[in-house]
Amino acid sequence: MPQVKKPLTLESFAAGKMKSVLIGQPENLEVICSLLNGEEPQELCSELRKLVETWQKSGPNLAKMLKDDAVLGVRVRHGRTLLAATSTGKGHLVWLPTPRDVNAHSWKGLALAHFMDLIVNPKWHKLGGPCQRCHKYYVKKTCRQKMYCSRRCGSSMTALATTRKKRIEVRVQKVIRAQAAANQWATVRTRRRWKEWVSIQTMITVKWLTRAVNKGDLRAPVNDSPIPAQESALAQNP
Ligand SMILES: [Zn+2]
Repeated sequence: MPQVKKPLTLESFAAGKMKSVLIGQPENLEVICSLLNGEEPQELCSELRKLVETWQKSGPNLAKMLKDDAVLGVRVRHGRTLLAATSTGKGHLVWLPTPRDVNAHSWKGLALAHFMDLIVNPKWHKLGGPCQRCHKYYVKKTCRQKMYCSRRCGSSMTALATTRKKRIEVRVQKVIRAQAAANQWATVRTRRRWKEWVSIQTMITVKWLTRAVNKGDLRAPVNDSPIPAQESALAQNP
């Protein structure tokens, strides 16, 4: 069985089992994920999302992010360090993010403190999201997992892409059929106007043909004669 790493507990901390000199930064990302995906408290969640979005957009490149926002750069620099004694001979250093120049009890201050927890978290790179399908943040299971929170979201998107591809393929085939018939119209003796004739031949509606011409997918015959006033422009500007 794979060894499951126990989460940080007060007991292991008090027993002096922690290896890290500096603790206080949570190693799990579940809390930040649930806040990022959450709606309540609204101000805290949205403020934190804003910070994480900016952070991600920067690269993430924390140095760049803090250089671009000098006020934030000063705010996140501060924390308190406490010495926490254990029942062994060892003491731990606990770092508590303390954003400067912002009310620590406001949602904004709290969001900033959570963000500071994230940027000192040794597993920061495992925070993934928003998922391209469900738009949720998630903890990455592998480093290749970049687009979707789960296999379920990934395969739904693949299915969707396949459907879209099929739809495009069907349309292309329809345009080819319509174009062949439109080209043929000039060579046959008929009193029908080209769209009407093509529509009868291909079972494609006149409305669809008009739209295809307007979109530039379908070329109208050059000698569209007898030329109705409305169609002459299309014939000259296929
Ligand atoms: Zn998802």
